[in-house]
Parts: sequence; structure tokens; C-alpha cells
Amino acid sequence: MGERVLRGSRLGTTSYETDRNTDLAPRREVIFDCPEGHETRMPMALDAEVPASWECRTCGAPAVQRDVEAPAAKVGKQARTHWDMLLERRSIDDLEDVLNERLAELHPAPKSRKSA
Ligand SMILES: [Zn+2]
Repeated sequence: MGERVLRGSRLGTTSYETDRNTDLAPRREVIFDCPEGHETRMPMALDAEVPASWECRTCGAPAVQRDVEAPAAKVGKQARTHWDMLLERRSIDDLEDVLNERLAELHPAPKSRKSA
């Protein structure tokens, strides 16, 4: 007889604890800047995937997440590779010279090698 009362109160306690855990999920504020200079702040869960752009709350224009590369540069243009950066510092001719130098070190020319 007393068992039924016990079961009922346990159910209530369990659901209450679940609600509390949800509220305690870590959050952070993500700021989006629209082209008009408006600022849109959105609280996001720490582990949530933050979209690169968000509709501006003030004017509705696509706002870009602050402190992040512009989405156009991310999607339209590929990230610079090591090769791209290398080409900014050296010409192909320079690289040919460096390559030949390295090849000569690794594989000495036959004339400098003594034939046995
Ligand atoms: Zn705006």
C-alpha cells in the first residue's frame, strides 16, 4: 500500500533533475556582424556547431560570425596550401635551383663517384 506513494514521488524527482541538467549545459555568446554594422548576439551551446552566418536581428541582412574568416573566402576560395605560400616567396626558377641542389646532395653525379 505504501509502495504506490513512494513510486509516485520518485517519478517527480527524476523528471525535475533532468530539467536541471539541461539548464546547466555550458553556453557561450556568439556575435554576428551584419554589413550595416548591426550586432546580433546569440547564445549557443558550447558543443553546438555555430553557423558562419546568421540573419541580422535588426535589418535581416546576412550577418557574419565575428572573429572568423569571411564565409566567401572559406567556400569560394580554397585555403592557401604550403605550395601557394612557397610560390609567394620563390619563383619556379629558384625552386628548380633548390631542387637540383638537393638532388645533387642525395644522388651525387656519376662523374664525382669513383667507379669500382
Ligand atoms: Zn543589420
